[in-house]
Amino acid sequence: MEYEKILAEIQEKAKKINRQVRFMELCGTHAETIAKHGIKSLMPENIKLISGPGCPVCVTGQEDIDIIVGLALAGIPVACYGDAAGVPGNLGSLEEARQKGADVRIVYDVSEIAGARLVEPLQEQNKPTIFWGLGFETTTPATAWAVANGLMVFSSHKLFSPAMEILLKNKNVKIDGFINPGHVSAIIGTQIYKQFKIPQVVAGFEALDVLRAVDMLSDQIISGKTEVQNEYTRLVKKDGNKKARELINDTFEIVDSKWRGLGVIEKSGLKLKKKYQTQDAEFVYRDLIAKIKKDIKVKPSACRCGEVLQGIFESRECPLFRKVCTPDNPQGACMVSGEGSCNIEYRYEK
Ligand code: SF4
Repeated sequence: MEYEKILAEIQEKAKKINRQVRFMELCGTHAETIAKHGIKSLMPENIKLISGPGCPVCVTGQEDIDIIVGLALAGIPVACYGDAAGVPGNLGSLEEARQKGADVRIVYDVSEIAGARLVEPLQEQNKPTIFWGLGFETTTPATAWAVANGLMVFSSHKLFSPAMEILLKNKNVKIDGFINPGHVSAIIGTQIYKQFKIPQVVAGFEALDVLRAVDMLSDQIISGKTEVQNEYTRLVKKDGNKKARELINDTFEIVDSKWRGLGVIEKSGLKLKKKYQTQDAEFVYRDLIAKIKKDIKVKPSACRCGEVLQGIFESRECPLFRKVCTPDNPQGACMVSGEGSCNIEYRYEK
């Protein structure tokens, strides 16, 4: 069996490494694969797998959540992907806003509502629906497509690689290698990662892909190399998807952006270009947004999702985990999203 062979190889290589190493995955789907197959428990003692800021809903800044919930509560129809509706903010979540009568629609694909602003207003006040776009380069092309098709957008989109740079600069976060995300890499390619002088492997999402990535990272550690290897060649190409990147570049400009746990990261966010100003909810509703921000009363929270996202704190160490914070009663973004570390830990802990 290939699994047994590769696990035996990892055990052998761990002996040669002969020190503690920490490999960080950067994608919620990798985190899920690792948890679902109990891969952490199969690792040698000196190889630790940790999670990073790979869950797009989790890394979205609190202020963006408050703004979109504030807009919904002000009577503006909002549409978003499923997980995003449950994230609690200072004004509650979009889901709670819907329970109070706000027009919040969950979509699986933004094409479900493209054109809605023209032909099917979601409420009688006839305001255009705002699509809340969030996530990394994987989901951004779909939002760009929606903009091209006339939809109004509030963008919380982010670029992936600036977060890696910040993690590597953080002295509190010890990382010996990255398992780079397959989906994001399908768009951005592998070349972009060469700026980071650390062992890296772009991996697919099967258990065997993750094990191969650990094996390849171990080889790099032993040889002292810092390369970008591609385990996921069946989907990821060196240059990524040029067409998708052109669509992103045509629609968005790069701005500084606030991340949960990582703070403001320079040139890490995407906002609509000026030519799409009339579809940019941030511009159209700028006065209302200024008022929402001014009126926000920050609620105290014991949630440590920000540290979980940096790999410096584990979900199960959180005193609220499972006792107070559950998927039905999430206290933070990391428990809401199916790609969040706390949610994954909750579902697969046993
Ligand atoms: S268990 Fe809940 S409260 Fe604790 S860090 Fe995770 S999301 Fe936050």
